[in-house]
Amino acid sequence: MSNEHAADTGEAIVARSRAGLACERSLFPALASQLVYLDAAASTLVPQSVLDAVSSVYTEGLTGVHRGVHARASSATLKFEAARSQIAYACGARADEVVIGRGTTESLNMLSHGLAATRLGPGDEVLASELDHHANIVSWQLVAAKYGARVILTPVDADGVLAQDAVLARINDRTKIVALPHVANTTGAVLDARPIAKAAHRKRAVLVLDGAQAFRTLEISVRELECDAYVFGAHKAYGPNGVGVLVGSDALLSELPPMQGGGHMVHAVHSHAPPELAKVPACHEAGTPNLEGVLGFAAAIAYLASARRRGALAHERNLTAELERGLRSLPFVRVLGAPAQRVGIVSFAIGAVHAHDAATFLDERCIAVRPGLMCAQPFFERLGVRDALRVSLSTHSQQTELDRLFSALVSLHEFFS
Ligand code: PMP
Repeated sequence: MSNEHAADTGEAIVARSRAGLACERSLFPALASQLVYLDAAASTLVPQSVLDAVSSVYTEGLTGVHRGVHARASSATLKFEAARSQIAYACGARADEVVIGRGTTESLNMLSHGLAATRLGPGDEVLASELDHHANIVSWQLVAAKYGARVILTPVDADGVLAQDAVLARINDRTKIVALPHVANTTGAVLDARPIAKAAHRKRAVLVLDGAQAFRTLEISVRELECDAYVFGAHKAYGPNGVGVLVGSDALLSELPPMQGGGHMVHAVHSHAPPELAKVPACHEAGTPNLEGVLGFAAAIAYLASARRRGALAHERNLTAELERGLRSLPFVRVLGAPAQRVGIVSFAIGAVHAHDAATFLDERCIAVRPGLMCAQPFFERLGVRDALRVSLSTHSQQTELDRLFSALVSLHEFFS
């Protein structure tokens, strides 16, 4: 074990975690109030450094990414490409393997539209799961039907767990694409992706991983995951809205027909001949990019790296166990899903109380959680749950906030009984 790794274990983490707690909350302007923010899985709050990076685009007058030669355009282009390199570094990829778009949903749709055209035919299958977000189900369902292909959802078991065997058993000669969540948005379950990647590759299928909920908590290496494509967005990882990332190998990005046409994605355009496309990744980035969002995301990645050094991510993982333990100790709460490994997210149902009523009750006590079906209807249908509440943690989450949540849930139960 390297010294650096040794410094990331045991007492060092506990000590840094305590120190981190003291400062983490103060970095987030929205937490100046008494707010208990437990909705990171919907969107994280942003630290001041991200706000500064976003506003610098306007205060410095940065315009014309990839388009101009004046000083501000050149600076905008340099900063944009430096941000791409930072994003790539953060997931163990090369900069030219990173396509920057507008959100995880858009990245998944780029993949579904492109790969359906190149890979799907009558009788073929796309294998997803009941643990997937609608973005990774519907995007495939909409296109598969056009090619006579089907989307198969691997069921979760009675405990809400996606068993690896169940996924492996469904990969067969008809499977062309496997698309799964790296971390589930309902249970925080972490997927052991490599065996699935290997099984998919044996059948010449590609593995797409939805990393929307993973990027803010796990250290990502697309090489170690052995996936063919990895997608995530900025707004669930301490960055701004409107930035999505698609990481793909050169082979996959070259295979993918561009979903949108426009400026920057073409090398040459003719009146009487098809356009000559730019090289990857540019051919997938039509139109003027969201410079402030991308620079904000680079600042968020820098924040995440420093939070990791302070032990805030390890602290968040430890707090996940406390969250689950505390919820399971409440007799009127049904925790949904019991994955072997989960990070930062727990969903639960509370008997007859409607989730929206429950979330409103908590909001009146300045506790923000997410009610409903979390864009994951097949999961809740399988468990026979009408609606649920989801609690999701951030680097700034604290045990005292969980204690406030647990005692508010007891009051809620008494109020509605
Ligand atoms: N996948 C997962 C697992 C998600 O949690 C979400 C957002 N809830 C998405 C995809 C879609 O992300 P976005 O809305 O940012 O496009």
